[in-house]
Amino acid sequence: MAPSIPFDTRQLFIGGEWRNATRGDLVPLENPSDGSLLANIARGTAVDVDAAVNAARAALDGDWGRMTATERGRVLAEIGRRVLAQADELARLEALDVGKPLKQGRADAVALARYMEFYGGAADKVHGQTLPYQAGFTALTWREPHGVTGHIVPWNYPMQIVGRSVGAALAMGNACVLKPAEEACLTVLAFARIAAEAGLPAGALNVVPGLGEEAGAALSAHPGIDHISFTGSVATGALVQAAAAANTVPVTLELGGKSPQIVFADADLDAALPFLVNAGIQNAGQTCSAASRILVERPVYEAVLARMAERYRALRVGPAMDDLDVGPVISRRQHGVVSQYLTVARDAGLRIAAQAEIVAAAPAEGYYVRPTLVADVPPEHALAQEEIFGPVQVLIPFDGEAQALRIANGTPFGLVAGVWTRDGGRQLRMARALKCGQVFVNNYGAGGGVELPFGGVKRSGHGREKGFEALYGFSTLKTVAIYHA
Ligand code: NAD
Repeated sequence: MAPSIPFDTRQLFIGGEWRNATRGDLVPLENPSDGSLLANIARGTAVDVDAAVNAARAALDGDWGRMTATERGRVLAEIGRRVLAQADELARLEALDVGKPLKQGRADAVALARYMEFYGGAADKVHGQTLPYQAGFTALTWREPHGVTGHIVPWNYPMQIVGRSVGAALAMGNACVLKPAEEACLTVLAFARIAAEAGLPAGALNVVPGLGEEAGAALSAHPGIDHISFTGSVATGALVQAAAAANTVPVTLELGGKSPQIVFADADLDAALPFLVNAGIQNAGQTCSAASRILVERPVYEAVLARMAERYRALRVGPAMDDLDVGPVISRRQHGVVSQYLTVARDAGLRIAAQAEIVAAAPAEGYYVRPTLVADVPPEHALAQEEIFGPVQVLIPFDGEAQALRIANGTPFGLVAGVWTRDGGRQLRMARALKCGQVFVNNYGAGGGVELPFGGVKRSGHGREKGFEALYGFSTLKTVAIYHA
């Protein structure tokens, strides 16, 4: 029996109204836990994107554009309250759509609410400056919205990624056009409903589901967009940036990662252990900031390996609604990608140190992958260099700080890193020398908190979202010089 979804999933949200896509085609959504058809979503086209951009522009000239920063903040805070009140329902939708165990989906809903609270509170706290200048002048700066902002979101954390990008953009007074991923967009549609019920004026948020190469490409290339926030793969990010460049539009790119956690011999291993494993298997490893490489100093290497292996063997993998440790991966395609990496590992004779079991009750049609710990992986091997985006972690031994840094920095990515050591000097030396956007010391937060600026260097992207920093990214600075003799 089809699970109940309490709204029509086949519509777009444009200018405060739910409507069908112009061409009427639909895209099927699968339930990754059993491979069944979950729902159909609209296949928005360039015509729909154009309508959404026009609706956003009209909102800037209308009620939304006239709101004060304080009023915008109140609306965001109210959205946050409503999201929190509906966290269980949002978690259920995410479990069905993304295959995310219920407690993980609930954590995402709570994070979405927190983004709305945080950016609601911040909306009227972004100040300009007065500048010392020539005699007879008063010079000052204002922060202004870009205008219409485009938001292209992947399937792995729809709620969190919508929260961080749309939350900051709305706080600064932009009007948003949002393109969710074609594999998962139920919680994004639910969020648009909640936002409208909370009093967000028509056109401030528009949602156009559809295919990446169609609706996503149309949004990236639209001349009416003033800023694009893209979260997804490196290859698509490059396409989006090229399309935006044709219109000289600024872009924030939040891309992939191959993030390390580095464990020195003096580390508190009891404290580190849960973070080492959780940051690899959370959301079945489909996390941009997944700690997919665990670098361990040689004296404690075998001990860490043994303890991680023990945890892996205790993990339970199964349907999202059963709320186990690990759910399925998102799709047949992703299952194939991850399985191929495991075949490569076996063919290369790499040491498979442990694999978790899939529970017997898991439907055969679901996209389950056995979480796998691969030991003694050469740092230059594909498994240690490429983003697998599945529950696979590699262990790499090292000798000393210098080698740890060479290995940690030796991939095309630079998103997050974790350092486990009791040595205060080393904590700071490592934090400075790691080439990435976020470093955790004696902890590892996948993606970090709402308050912490987040983003990458190298192929992991550029620009920062989250925290107060995002408010600068989602606004532009105007300088005003007044001559008054
Ligand atoms: P993807 O690049 O395939 O898709 C992301 C989004 O882009 C989707 O909405 C898709 O429809 C759209 N898209 C696809 N082709 C497009 C095109 N030609 N023009 C415009 N838009 C297009 O990525 P994915 O497979 O959905 O997501 C996984 C990737 O996202 C991983 O690499 C992961 O690391 C990354 N990610 C990064 C972060 C971060 O914050 N750095 C967070 C989550 C995911």
